[in-house]
Amino acid sequence: MSLLVVGTMAFDALETPFGKVDKIVGGAATYIVYSAAYLCNQIDLVSVVGGDFPDEVMEDLHKRGVCTDGVQIKKDEKTFFWSGKYHVDMNTRDTIDTQLNVLETFDPILPAQYQNPDILMLGNLMPVIQKKVLSQMTTRPKFIVLDTMNFWIESSKPDLLEAFKEVDLLTINDEEARLLSGEYSLVKAAKHILKLGPKNLIIKKGEHGALLFNENETFFTPALPLEEVFDPTGAGDTFVGGIVGHLSKNNDFSFENLKRAIIYGTVMASFTCEKFGTERIANLTQEEIKERIQKLVQLGTYSL
Ligand code: AMP
Repeated sequence: MSLLVVGTMAFDALETPFGKVDKIVGGAATYIVYSAAYLCNQIDLVSVVGGDFPDEVMEDLHKRGVCTDGVQIKKDEKTFFWSGKYHVDMNTRDTIDTQLNVLETFDPILPAQYQNPDILMLGNLMPVIQKKVLSQMTTRPKFIVLDTMNFWIESSKPDLLEAFKEVDLLTINDEEARLLSGEYSLVKAAKHILKLGPKNLIIKKGEHGALLFNENETFFTPALPLEEVFDPTGAGDTFVGGIVGHLSKNNDFSFENLKRAIIYGTVMASFTCEKFGTERIANLTQEEIKERIQKLVQLGTYSL
């Protein structure tokens, strides 16, 4: 099935307890497509970059089967820039700087061949842009996934709430779920958020795993316990990339298949944490992915 991914492509400056980098390639959509491309093969990308963004990344994505015709390149402008610093536990971070640059005037015009995807992945981006993309769909996609973060919940809540009405799966982290709902209990937060429109909700808890909810059911998966966590940037995006990558392999959006998808997402995210930026997720083998899937399945198997 076809997958359309919309989101940021960026330069990131990062500081973790293990090191510091000033300007590496990142962005929500970048991590999503790197991750999904291991699991499916019909991916279209919509984003915007400045003239400073490396051509090699676009070429690399092409080689992986990602169509980048929908990436606007604004030659005289600068790429979106984000800078973050992680706390010692690596589970929480502060945003130091967000420079929208090209994103400020981004008008996502979808090429005609992008307007009818089976799965639409609205990666972390201004909610008003997520809405503009939704409005260009000629037929409703079979499944719409939306990811967002505290920055947009705080600055663009009305637009976000409107977009939620169309959403089949929303992914946010625990802090964002509490911010959005005003509830501390994640179970109460999930009930509150599901009433806002999304049919399914994933609450990510970093190294403590992820919860999946719909109106009647709940599922939990632990994160893979890792020996080396170097840089968790992009873990959430890689996670959702794994989910949509898995979903686009079959025509099944049942809760049972979402449970399988979240296992793929968890495994893909585990790789991203092991190196700075996209370095690890860009250099994986299918064998490594299979091995970790098996490990995670074993980890969650109980016999009483
Ligand atoms: P994650 O660690 O999964 O939350 O993703 C981090 C990635 O999201 C980084 O590569 C950033 O470039 C990108 N990012 C950070 N802030 C924003 C924002 N406000 N909107 C969209 N993308 C962002």
